[in-house]
Amino acid sequence: MTPDDLKARIDDDGVEFIYAMFVEMHGKPCAKLVPVSAIDDLLEVGAGFAGFAAGPISQTPADPDILAIPDSDSYTQLPWQPNVAAMQCDPTVEGELWPYAPRVILKRATAAAAGQNLVLKAGAEAEYSLLHRNEDGSLRPADERDTSELPCYDARGLTAVLDHLTTVSRHMDAMGWGNYANDHEDANGQFEQNFKYADALTTADRLIVLRLMMHTLARRQDLYATFMPKPFADKTGNGLHTHLSLWTADTDEPLFHDDDDARGLGLSPLAYSFVGGILDHAQGLTGIVCPTVNSFKRIGVGPPDSGATWAPSYVAYGGNNRTQMIRIPEGGRLEVRIPDGSANPYLALAALLGSGLDGIARDLDPGEPNTDNLFALPLDEIGRRGIAALPPTLLHAMDALVADDTLRATLGTGRDGDYVDYFAAVKRTEFRSVNDQVSPAEIDRYLTLM
Ligand SMILES: [Mg+2]
Repeated sequence: MTPDDLKARIDDDGVEFIYAMFVEMHGKPCAKLVPVSAIDDLLEVGAGFAGFAAGPISQTPADPDILAIPDSDSYTQLPWQPNVAAMQCDPTVEGELWPYAPRVILKRATAAAAGQNLVLKAGAEAEYSLLHRNEDGSLRPADERDTSELPCYDARGLTAVLDHLTTVSRHMDAMGWGNYANDHEDANGQFEQNFKYADALTTADRLIVLRLMMHTLARRQDLYATFMPKPFADKTGNGLHTHLSLWTADTDEPLFHDDDDARGLGLSPLAYSFVGGILDHAQGLTGIVCPTVNSFKRIGVGPPDSGATWAPSYVAYGGNNRTQMIRIPEGGRLEVRIPDGSANPYLALAALLGSGLDGIARDLDPGEPNTDNLFALPLDEIGRRGIAALPPTLLHAMDALVADDTLRATLGTGRDGDYVDYFAAVKRTEFRSVNDQVSPAEIDRYLTLM
């Protein structure tokens, strides 16, 4: 969109203010509220931020300002506050794109793919919990009667929060996202509202706006919307299942579909190599797509009340089988089930793309699909078959991430060294600060044990 087109659009929409937005490592939505009277300055100079204050983006208090340059194509009028539009920005420092900004990292990864005439398209299923916080700090589902052991798809659970769900659906459509389904998920208070896939950058931008919308709408009802991976130890966690396909950049032809696939999954050899790359980099990749201490309570643990975690534990792929790390729900695309709601969508899609492209460059073959129920296969049988487990903690995942040269190259380097080293340093500190706390479960276990 040209500046004149943008200004005409702002005028038509009756927008008075712009959120000039960017995210740091954790995906926190940072913004300045800019009146449209200052749009020329915003487009030419950008919005100024003290980067160090925003969060981890490899800035010190001594650094010059980040100037965040808005991407006109990301302009989105916000239907829940229609006098405001959001524009996602590319952070710069002294005129150069800042290599520790997640959006800049994804754009570099998609540009590398475009150099091979490839475009990554992505759809994401952002599961979230809609919760009420009690005065003692404890949490319960927004609907206090939402206590069934099998709440998934329950029409009564949908009905209880119908106003919220239909409002989100209308807002998604007003933003042009194409909402096509909304459901009560497997945990009490857990929902998922699906919108159509798009190119990776558009989907990542939308996920930032989606989270902002959910937080805002929940707050207006004195509720919390959370994307944290495992808010309740005994309930299914919040995943960010990510559907991926490659297309040609010049003619927009899908490249992952093949009706003649001998394995019967409808995938092309290129898609299989992409799958092989993601499996090959699964250990380090997990550190990017499951980036919190809490993430590892969602994957790789025993079943919650409902009977299944719906989260992967092992490095494996299969057909339409939700116990696999990569599921092939139908020909032409793959679903990666590791990512959770705490993932930074820019970093997650960059890392997935880099891993898949490496599989293509090395012509990897993932072998035959796994057809087991991996939630039920005994551990000794998993070991006997040589199926690797996903990393058990954030620390293990960081060790794998810094050892992965493909992810190191994909996420890039800057003034302060490689992004993976910066990311791992921040995350190791986060691990220690959470792990240093003494939990009630520890007291229960150890108080009188010896
Ligand atoms: Mg789901």
